[in-house]
Amino acid sequence: MSVLDSFSLAGKRALVTGGNRGLGEAFARGLAEAGAQVMISGRDEERNAAAVASAASDGLTLHSVVADITKDADIAAMTAATVETLGGIDILVNNAGICYHRDSWDVPDDEWDHVFDLNVRALFKCSRAVGEHMKATGGSIVNIGSISAMIVNRPQNQAAYNASKAAVHQLTKSLAAEWAPYKIRVNAVSPGYVKTEMAPVDEPQFKRMWIEDSPQQRYAVPSEIAGSVVFLASDAAAFCTGTILVIDGGYTVY
Ligand code: NDP
Repeated sequence: MSVLDSFSLAGKRALVTGGNRGLGEAFARGLAEAGAQVMISGRDEERNAAAVASAASDGLTLHSVVADITKDADIAAMTAATVETLGGIDILVNNAGICYHRDSWDVPDDEWDHVFDLNVRALFKCSRAVGEHMKATGGSIVNIGSISAMIVNRPQNQAAYNASKAAVHQLTKSLAAEWAPYKIRVNAVSPGYVKTEMAPVDEPQFKRMWIEDSPQQRYAVPSEIAGSVVFLASDAAAFCTGTILVIDGGYTVY
């Protein structure tokens, strides 16, 4: 197999949670461009449909399913719908996540719970639900971590998010170790600042510490992170498991 062929996802079936906008949409499109059949999920049916239509206008096929993955029943239904539509699942991108900017003294219980229910619990439950379908033949799980697992972002405070992403990185390594016998690889991509609805990178109050503190002096756009997800999902990363791939324009070198 040539090195470029090892990046091909032809014949693979992928599920991207939170795939209707931002990073998840770019990951879904990247996986489809690399040859995979792709299902996206999100809570908002209209946004799901818009992402499918936008991809179609560029000649890419995406399928969508409505799911709130903080609910176990929705995870089961999303997984079943993906298996039925695509005929199985070889790749899971655990992308859906939430972040609140809040001083720790003021974080209400329901906000803390929302962050951990989505960023950690749902990621674990999706991994297990989909992992059951990968057990027989193997597969690749790509978790979306963050530089927030390694550094404390400034100037905004977001302790719950930072702790949740540290949990994602450690869960990645734990499942990689435990599921290697099933030929299920588990890796994470750890992005720096990327322009999406979650990260208001253009707001002036963030410029000094989000942009000027970074060696490249810029933020990324979502498509710049997609290649890393395609790599980890593909046979090019066959010897790669438990890896945290940091894609941050150099932010964490300081
Ligand atoms: P966005 O807020 O732009 O998108 C979040 C996505 O998650 C949407 O598709 C949303 O769809 C979906 N989602 C939210 N809640 C749920 C839920 N309960 N069930 C199912 N889907 C849900 O975020 P980004 O694209 O910026 O972030 C994507 C991932 O990348 C996150 O894990 C984030 O932590 C991580 N990340 C982002 C960085 C950045 O700078 N942007 C940097 C580092 C990491 P819907 O609303 O329809 O449910």
